[in-house]
Formats: sequence, structure tokens, C-alpha cells
Amino acid sequence: MRLGEKLALGYAYGTSLLAYMADGAPRPFSATWAVTNRCNLRCGYCNCPFLDPSHLDLPRVALLFDRLRAMGIRRLGLAGGEPMLRKDLGEIVGLAKDRGFWVSVNSNLTLYARHPERLHLADLVYTSLDGDEAAHEGARGEGSWAGVLAAIGELVRIGKPVIAICVVTEHSLDQADGILRRAEAAGFRVHFQPQCTDTEIVRGRMPASVANEEFRAFWRRLRDEKRRGRPIVSSSAFLEYLAGWDDFAVSAVDALGERCAAGHGFLYVDPRGRAYPCAYTKGKTTPVDLLAADWRTAWDRATPCTRCIVGPMLEFNLLFQRPLASAVESVRTYA
Ligand code: SF4
Ligand code: SF4
Repeated sequence: MRLGEKLALGYAYGTSLLAYMADGAPRPFSATWAVTNRCNLRCGYCNCPFLDPSHLDLPRVALLFDRLRAMGIRRLGLAGGEPMLRKDLGEIVGLAKDRGFWVSVNSNLTLYARHPERLHLADLVYTSLDGDEAAHEGARGEGSWAGVLAAIGELVRIGKPVIAICVVTEHSLDQADGILRRAEAAGFRVHFQPQCTDTEIVRGRMPASVANEEFRAFWRRLRDEKRRGRPIVSSSAFLEYLAGWDDFAVSAVDALGERCAAGHGFLYVDPRGRAYPCAYTKGKTTPVDLLAADWRTAWDRATPCTRCIVGPMLEFNLLFQRPLASAVESVRTYA
């Protein structure tokens, strides 16, 4: 990350944090935009490919990005569905870079060999790796493994940072060491996150065959592996939090007297430009159409839950709940 980008991102985060601490008007610094819900895979825990397949054309993408920039967003995650299904993804990333966003793209990378240019302007690529071929395809379906390691290798070779996300399910519980060995050999890093339940963008349930204590033990082991210096980008606070979670069949709760930073510090935008506090709240809250209204004044400032183990949301929330430790670690990880 260049110095100017670091300073802009740090300023946006600081402004957002101060507004949240003062309980002032929301001032999110980060947005995740689902470029499309369409996907060429059918992972067992994901409902995105079964949602509305429509999306914004390029002029409206440009307008959406202008709106996000005007509200103070500096970090933009392009997600899906599978963003690489859009032929104009390269132009979309270019529009985002023109507006000064730091841009990550989430992709399963199965289409990378055919269209490598679509990712070349991204600052960071997130992909998926749930273990070896059998574990990965067990969770994500036939054809989900082909070409992924080659694509990661090529991205690393051209200097693009890559973070593989492992969804922790019964398929991946015994796969962490193998994934980390691959990461150490190939030069990428890994984020682990629990499978989530009970919201529009996911499907499936937590396996009854795995006891909560087995999951807690997994997160404790991962915390110890991180302390040993293995390439785990999940923050220490995140791993500690998961090691203490009571029931992994419940991804989020409304805890009396607690606040959540979703909507204040970060938000989620669906493929048609409608914003929610976070992806988990899609279908649980009334969205704000960002092409017609300003999030800062139109959002009702309510979230259906205040405590969760939803992978990326928990990491963002910790930036606001435990700012000092989490922000320092985040700078070390991403800068
Ligand atoms: S998790 Fe990603 S790759 Fe899998 S179906 Fe959902 S959008 Fe597609
Ligand atoms: S607790 Fe907050 S970040 Fe987590 S799912 Fe609920 S609204 Fe989203």
C-alpha cells in the first residue's frame, strides 16, 4: 500500500471511529459491494447464486462509487457472487481506483486463467481455500478446485497480495495445517472464518456432528499457530473471540446494552446499489437505495443484532470495539 493510501485510509478510519464513539451521524470508512449475485459455483453454505441476478450497468456503478466516495468511504471490497463473471470487472476496478479507493476483490479464481486482466488493478485478492482437493470440493462442489492454486501462484508471482479464506465447517476442521503449509510454500496468507447460518446470503446449518467444544478447540489451536508466526491474517482478538463463543449454530444475537459498528463504520451494498449495515442484515433490515438517498441521513441506525461471529463483520466490529489493539494489528497485516 502506498503512503498516500495509508494516510487516507487511516484518516477515514479515525474519523469513522470518532463519529461512532460520539454516537454521531454514521461515517463509514469501508464498504463491501456485491458486484453480482451470480456465481459459477454452488458452495454448500452460500445462497448468493439463488438471489436476484440483476446488477448495475457501468454508468450507475460510477454514480454509486461517487456516492460512496462522497460519504467518506476509502476502502472498497468488491465481492459477489463471483465478480469475475462480469466481463466489465476490469473497468469496474478501474472506476474504483480512479476515485481513490483501496480495492480488494473476492473471487473463487476458477475463471482467472481465462481472464487474468480482470484482476490486475485490484490492490488485494481474496480467494477461497477450504483444504485439500477433497475437503475443498466437499464444501464447495465439483469443479471448485480446478486452477485455484495455479491462479494464486500466478497472482503471487506478479506481486499481487493474496489472502485465502477458509470457511470452518466439518470439511475443513482438520485442514488448517495443510492450508498453512501451502500458504508458507506459495507466499499467500490465510483468513479463517466460521460458517454462518440464518440469513439471506447463506444456506445450510452447522453440522450436528461437531460439538461446540470442538470448534472452540479449533480456534484456540489457530490462536496458538498465529503466535508461532504462521501466515494467519485473522486478528488475535478475532481468534480469542471465537474461542469463547458459546453456540456456533447461532451466528448473531441481540445482546442487551451492546452496540455494533455496522452501518456506522462499514456497510454492505447489494448488486442493485441498496445498502445494509452489513451483509448478514440483508433481508432483516430495510435497505437504503444509495442511487437515490444518502446513507448518513436515510439509515434508521438500527441493527437486528449487536454481537456476532460473522467472519469479516466481526473483524470490522473489533476495529471499533477494541480499536487500539485491532487497528495496530490491522496496520501490520495490511500495510
Ligand atoms: S461462496 Fe463464493 S464461490 Fe461459493 S457459491 Fe457463494 S459466491 Fe460462489
Ligand atoms: S452484530 Fe453487527 S456486524 Fe454482526 S451481523 Fe449483526 S449487525 Fe452485522
